[in-house]
Amino acid sequence: MSKGFLLVISGPSGSGKGTVCKHILERNEKLVFSVSATTRAPRRGEEDGVNYFFVDEESFKEMVENDEFLEYANVHGNFYGTPKKFVLEQIEKGEIVILEIDVQGALQVKESYPEAVFVFLLPPSMSELKNRIKKRGTESQEDIDLRFKNAFEELKFVDEYDYIVINDEVPEAVKKIETIIGAEKLKVKRLRNIIDSILD
Ligand code: 5GP
Repeated sequence: MSKGFLLVISGPSGSGKGTVCKHILERNEKLVFSVSATTRAPRRGEEDGVNYFFVDEESFKEMVENDEFLEYANVHGNFYGTPKKFVLEQIEKGEIVILEIDVQGALQVKESYPEAVFVFLLPPSMSELKNRIKKRGTESQEDIDLRFKNAFEELKFVDEYDYIVINDEVPEAVKKIETIIGAEKLKVKRLRNIIDSILD
């Protein structure tokens, strides 16, 4: 059986990563979502083990020390990390695993697992990005300004990625990511076994 692959969907705060990933997973039941661990408190409606594994800082630090994360980062004051064992096992089993993580995390994955496929999600404009951050209404003015400033910094890393998807309309962005997945599945390196069976 051929291996699966890791699809990293990343981008600045307000690029719509969460919404886009939710829709992709709803439409493609076979994709596997990597549930991150976080020290942030659950929001209303969030379930432990579904949206995140909610842990305290001490447990998170222990996980870091035990090398349990593929990557981890402090994002807007809370820690977030991708459990390594689950992700690598799923890929070995042939699954396509989706990570929805911030840019710092994606750059770490690029270092430790460069064969992953990296998608940078962008807003149609920076003013739209600011509107989206504001509209969420969960952040203070200071937070909004910080996220907006960070977005400019994060854009500098776009060259580290394989694909850019502009998230203007969610269904269009979802279709583009599905196209990327389709093309990645057809890569020669992933179809070696088919070539071998034809030659047999
Ligand atoms: P939220 O708290 O709104 O769910 O997520 C805040 C930010 O953390 C988002 O940008 C999200 O992509 C990012 N994030 C979620 N899980 C992880 C993770 O495991 N690693 C990293 N580096 N970022 C994450």
